[in-house]
Amino acid sequence: ADQNGETLVPTHCCFCGVQCGMYLRVDRGGKVFGVEPRNHDINRMRLCPKGINAYQQVNHPDRLTAPLMRRSRDEELREATWDEALDFTVSEIQRIQREHGRDAFGVLGGASLFSEKTYLVGKFARVALKTRHVDYNGRLCMVSAAGANKLAFNIDRAGNPFSDILLTDCLLLAGANVGECFPVLTQYVWGARDRGATLIVVDPRETAVARTADIHVALKSGTDSAFFNAVLNVVIEEGLTDEAYLAAHATGWVEAKANAAQYPPSRAAGICGIPAEQVVQVARAFARAPKAMAFHARGIEHHTQGVENCLSVINLCTATGHIGKPGAGYGTLTGQGNGQGGREHGQKADLLPGGRSILNEEHRRQICEIWGIEESELPAAGTSMMEMVWQMQRQEIRGLIGICNNPFVSLPHYAVVKEGYDTTEFHAQFDFFLSETAANAHVVFPVTIWAEDEGVMANAEARVVKHNKAQEPPAGVRTDTWVMCEIARRLGAGDKFAFGSSREVFDELRRASAGTVIDYSGITYERLEETGGISWPCPSTDHPGTPRLFEDGTTYHADGKIHMQVVEWHPPADPYDEAHPMTLTTGRTVAHFLSGNQTRRLGALVEQTPRPWAEVHPSHGFRNGEPVRVVTRRGSEVFPALVTEAIRPDTVFIPYHWPVPTAANALTIDALDPRSKIPEYKVCACRIEHADAI
Ligand code: SF4
Repeated sequence: ADQNGETLVPTHCCFCGVQCGMYLRVDRGGKVFGVEPRNHDINRMRLCPKGINAYQQVNHPDRLTAPLMRRSRDEELREATWDEALDFTVSEIQRIQREHGRDAFGVLGGASLFSEKTYLVGKFARVALKTRHVDYNGRLCMVSAAGANKLAFNIDRAGNPFSDILLTDCLLLAGANVGECFPVLTQYVWGARDRGATLIVVDPRETAVARTADIHVALKSGTDSAFFNAVLNVVIEEGLTDEAYLAAHATGWVEAKANAAQYPPSRAAGICGIPAEQVVQVARAFARAPKAMAFHARGIEHHTQGVENCLSVINLCTATGHIGKPGAGYGTLTGQGNGQGGREHGQKADLLPGGRSILNEEHRRQICEIWGIEESELPAAGTSMMEMVWQMQRQEIRGLIGICNNPFVSLPHYAVVKEGYDTTEFHAQFDFFLSETAANAHVVFPVTIWAEDEGVMANAEARVVKHNKAQEPPAGVRTDTWVMCEIARRLGAGDKFAFGSSREVFDELRRASAGTVIDYSGITYERLEETGGISWPCPSTDHPGTPRLFEDGTTYHADGKIHMQVVEWHPPADPYDEAHPMTLTTGRTVAHFLSGNQTRRLGALVEQTPRPWAEVHPSHGFRNGEPVRVVTRRGSEVFPALVTEAIRPDTVFIPYHWPVPTAANALTIDALDPRSKIPEYKVCACRIEHADAI
């Protein structure tokens, strides 16, 4: 403590996948009241507007400090005691499962939770509730990248640390609005450019990083794999492939090469709505660079061909030999703070801890041993988040516990989501603010915010970092861990959930991950506090971690090779017609985070960006601020126009952080990528009209 009795608690930002280090300032009364920069090597003192304002949530007047409940949706939510709320929840779980079977109750987790809690979400659903229905909101984020990573490398994480960006000669960003979604990462992007690297940005919008790019490819949304196939076509035609690398380290090259031949630049130019010369420029810049890196984000991942889009980038990196070297490699930029860690430890419908498959008998046996249950007791694979909502609509799932998510803003096609939740007989939600989804629930459990507990997250580099507790939670608030364990105890599974702290959960998580690719067994809280972060796999406490993958050219497939895949482009799910000739695409803005449940309450961020807008090209004749109605097959909403040449004339952009009646996701389509089940947020057919008023 300093002379004023104030202390600085080292921790990390709660928001995006960069996971900037910060200090929380704690007053002599033990309350968080501010933030200080921290010279952590991820962010080197820098924070973005969200990070600077994050602390304001901690003692915000909107914090929930008592459980809320109602027995039917006709009633208003009222304050309840913990016993009342827990008793009602447990009796509804038991009633629904008795009347309709165990799988009639589902659990939806979140990727902003610490990894300990994400581990517990999966165990809670499968061991305490014994349901197969568990999934999480990372399903809306980078699961298509995860699917591509597994197919190509059999490991689901980025290949290189952020610091490699500064060593590259060519940086390709595809569908990654780095300046707004991962702001502090721009220091690496522009740092590389300052050192002479060529910057290529593939994005339908001229974002801040696109404006500073050497080549900006403003392709039509939903055409990414056609573009990258064509780039590969030129690389092949011009003899720029790394044949020695391909021969030694790849399978599937013959088929991928034959497929690329179907995508000459002239064809891609027609599909993507770009000049054919840009395909050639990108191919030469990327392939001729001694070291090149490619990163993508939701821009190419939020598609019904999300896995294919990511694979088309991996094919390009592989064909040019830009994998596994300092300054050469490939990765996805995760959106949520624990977007990486949130998908590692078993809250995903098809995965068990350590990224094990729930379909694999050996993997199931290993986890049953750790959890102390019979193999016959472990449920089968479940369904994805959006599919669970469809099942709620059909009354196949009749009860739900939601933990750290806000589907009323974040899922596509709001009318379907609302109907699904309204159809449930019982819904409980964990949150620290009354989100739009929580406000619709029967029970709301008030839980801790990130600064009131300790735990780990894995950032977009797969670097595990530790968040530290800075203050005691307000009276009446419990940790998510405590609530899950208490429900489990009341359901008769208390012996499997005797966790008194995050540390105890982390120790079980480490044991559960041992021997897998996602090996945390060498990572301890003490080591994380000493080092500032360790990248997995880390199989022993004297192992330094693995910041860069594939350095010896070996992947995690049994044959050690990169498995290149044939990628065929297909049109988006929502067809264009006369009534819907334009593309609606959605995304984020720098001042807000995901569903906005946190950032829409923070004064400076609200002042910076108080409302959403529709970004339209000047050719449509709107004036700035004029009301523009955006119409899709799901409905229509009115937004103020932001008239800009930074968007394609055939495209409209709306940021999605707000609820109805200005919810981008009231308009988006609930079509899913068949492999990863990610929704197609980034492209649906629309038209725009003049409107009378907003
Ligand atoms: Fe937080 Fe991400 Fe901003 Fe860093 S870049 S301060 S992690 S929101």
